[in-house]
Amino acid sequence: MLLLCNLTAGITVDKRQDHPVVGRFAPSPTGALHTGSLVAAVGSYLMAKQAGGRWLLRLDDLDKQRQVPGMADDIMRTLESFGLLWDGKVACQSRHLEAYRQAFEALQQKGVIYPCYCSRKEIAGSASAPHHEDDCIPYPGTCRGGISGGVKGASSVRSWRVIVPEEEICFSDLRKGRICQKLPIISGDFVLKRGNGEFAYQLAVVVDDYLTGVNQVVRGEDLLVSTPRQIYLQRLLGFPQPDYCHLPLVAGPDGSKLSKRDHLVSHQLGNVAGREQSLLVTALRFLSLTPPTELWGDSCGTILQWSVTHFHPLRP
Ligand code: GLU
Repeated sequence: MLLLCNLTAGITVDKRQDHPVVGRFAPSPTGALHTGSLVAAVGSYLMAKQAGGRWLLRLDDLDKQRQVPGMADDIMRTLESFGLLWDGKVACQSRHLEAYRQAFEALQQKGVIYPCYCSRKEIAGSASAPHHEDDCIPYPGTCRGGISGGVKGASSVRSWRVIVPEEEICFSDLRKGRICQKLPIISGDFVLKRGNGEFAYQLAVVVDDYLTGVNQVVRGEDLLVSTPRQIYLQRLLGFPQPDYCHLPLVAGPDGSKLSKRDHLVSHQLGNVAGREQSLLVTALRFLSLTPPTELWGDSCGTILQWSVTHFHPLRP
């Protein structure tokens, strides 16, 4: 399969026949875990373990500007304190740059990528369609046919975009059911690499999951809108499609989406005995699981063990 030989240098690829399910949790170290990310961690852990599979941890550390020093360690310590112990070594996107480059090149060779010279302002100005849920203005395809006269040089390339198909991309989400999306309406030709050479999340996540043998992606519903773009890239690259399960989002007291600053789990832990257990039970309740009260005084590991056998993704 494409990329398999040289992409994997230094990266462990799971053998699917040995470990049928490989799930993962992929936080960005831009802030400490909040209640919402704890729910995603617990949900992905329970689904992988329930299937007798492995659960990997990956740090999505591509966006250097948004990263906060110390957060990667803080996230790992927090997961450990809840008994959410990952299998194998922690993967980091910053160590996969060569793999992204190769995937990008493979797409270039397929002729589906073009340079784009449009600024955000120009795109916003030319948008005829309303903004979508992820606040992304579908790119109208201005640079798809090349720039006439060739007046713009390589230095003014703002991004590289992938051409999206007209036909719908559909998939079956384990919780949400069948989801179909027309990429020209949602995103238009989307960015794979920025002018400064940074690879975009959509490409990185597809390559990461493939490299690490992930075949079950369980994450928050805020990422549902991105999934068809990721499936489209998997199809172009010849990668297998993981199973997807998008969990409901934990809302703030006013119903709004939790920000990185809200409900920080590590701040709530302090030195209070039993605090981990009660926060874990809160996250489990959100996933419609109520461990028997006699377990609450036990370790998080014991509560998780009970939860692995009782969890059902369709319940929330
Ligand atoms: N790193 C992303 C985030 O924290 C999640 C990526 C994913 O689960 O695909 O929102």
